[in-house]
Amino acid sequence: MARDGQERRTERSRPGGSAVALSTAYDTALLDLDGVVYFAGGAAIPYAVEALVAARDGGMRLAYVTNNALRTPDAVAAHLTELGVPAAPGDVVTSAQAVARLVAEDVPAGSPVLVVGGEGLRVALRERGLVPVESADDGPVAVVQGYGGPDMGWGRFAEAAYAIGRGVPWYASNTDLTIPGARGIGPGNGAAVEVVRIATGGRAEPKVAGKPQPPMHRETVLRTGAERPLVVGDRLDTDIEGAFNGGVDSLLVLTGVTDAAALLAAVPEHRPTYVAADLRGLLTGQPEVEADGAGGFRCGGWRASASGDALVLEGGEPGGPDVLDGVRALCGAAWTRAGSGACGLDAGKALARLGL
Ligand SMILES: [Mg+2]
Repeated sequence: MARDGQERRTERSRPGGSAVALSTAYDTALLDLDGVVYFAGGAAIPYAVEALVAARDGGMRLAYVTNNALRTPDAVAAHLTELGVPAAPGDVVTSAQAVARLVAEDVPAGSPVLVVGGEGLRVALRERGLVPVESADDGPVAVVQGYGGPDMGWGRFAEAAYAIGRGVPWYASNTDLTIPGARGIGPGNGAAVEVVRIATGGRAEPKVAGKPQPPMHRETVLRTGAERPLVVGDRLDTDIEGAFNGGVDSLLVLTGVTDAAALLAAVPEHRPTYVAADLRGLLTGQPEVEADGAGGFRCGGWRASASGDALVLEGGEPGGPDVLDGVRALCGAAWTRAGSGACGLDAGKALARLGL
């Protein structure tokens, strides 16, 4: 099992090992959705449904944590249930809920709050006793901005700019610059925040709730009651960094936006505790990555080292079933060489040997 959070914060130079299945080593999986459970188009990622059902049958609690503030927890739970992973609205935590809590801590109950976003945000604000309003002239005491979907009009950004220009405090559910869709990459809430920032002369700064910021992790732990959570995600700069900031362990799955090359180049706060090809990684232990005393790192049958300006991978069975062990060994070599920075070594040949 991984070392304690404090130590890891300064010293994650290789992936951790676990002698038992992660689904038994941790009480709750805090799962990202896009790129982990389903694709941007909404279809389930291969093996995700079976793995989640098996993990839950084994006693692991499943919770879903999304930066997307557009959909309500009810809508997300219905989608998961339709895919074959029965979920209740209470199993879903959104950045809309996290930002609503932030606002509610700062303003009196019953306050009007200007919403620039979708239904998920309005529902979350009402849940905290706040009153969503639509105009800067409605006397808002806060402006909250969240992803509003493709049909949100330009006038919404203008209302935010008017209110912020009058000195009203500004909040954002999250600042993801992009949002993946079935037809490509579109502008996310972070891009919309920048529109408002430019329009207001760059003088105001929003309070941000979503991953990787601590309010999102706090909201998640409060709602799930997780005592030994494992964050499971596909993005280094939101999911994994959020786990790092919260001092909890994390599992990166390679089914979303992060490939093995990006993992090897990760800076310390982006290095996950564990890595797996997909969610089946919840159901297994994780092999240790061992330093061999000669500058190399071994995992499974693989040995990785740094030589000149490249990472070198030896042994193993190219294209075989344990290529993830090769990735783990390479993480040891790359992260140790990088120290507190990012590894600049060429990983092309080593990854080609793994078929990645
Ligand atoms: Mg994701």
